[in-house]
Amino acid sequence: MLVFMVKILHKCLPISSILAQRRGDLYKQYRCLACQNDNVEDWDHLLECQGYNEAWNAIYDKLTNEFKLIGQKELKEDKVTLTRLNSAITELLGRQANSAIFRKFVKLSIEVKCNCSWLDALKMTL
Ligand SMILES: [Zn+2]
Repeated sequence: MLVFMVKILHKCLPISSILAQRRGDLYKQYRCLACQNDNVEDWDHLLECQGYNEAWNAIYDKLTNEFKLIGQKELKEDKVTLTRLNSAITELLGRQANSAIFRKFVKLSIEVKCNCSWLDALKMTL
């Protein structure tokens, strides 16, 4: 799962549209293999494909836990309450993996990659 997450955040996942660019002579079909329908597997489809729901749920859970760990320091220093921390994480990631907020977070992460500005934004929200 970690490899999938790192590859997707760095836009290195070998989806069909990438394989077509790299070796169009080898790949003749660009359908999404996860859902087996006629959708071309590109970045937009990857975010919405039902076949990747389990992976997106795992990524959502992992990110939520990571942000909670980051917030633990603030909790220990009594700078924030647990309720406020959870609220800030929900504002940042949405309530679940298939929420519009989480999809926007992932899309932005793919484009700009996660960096310290996300952490700064979380701290500002707290
Ligand atoms: Zn699909």
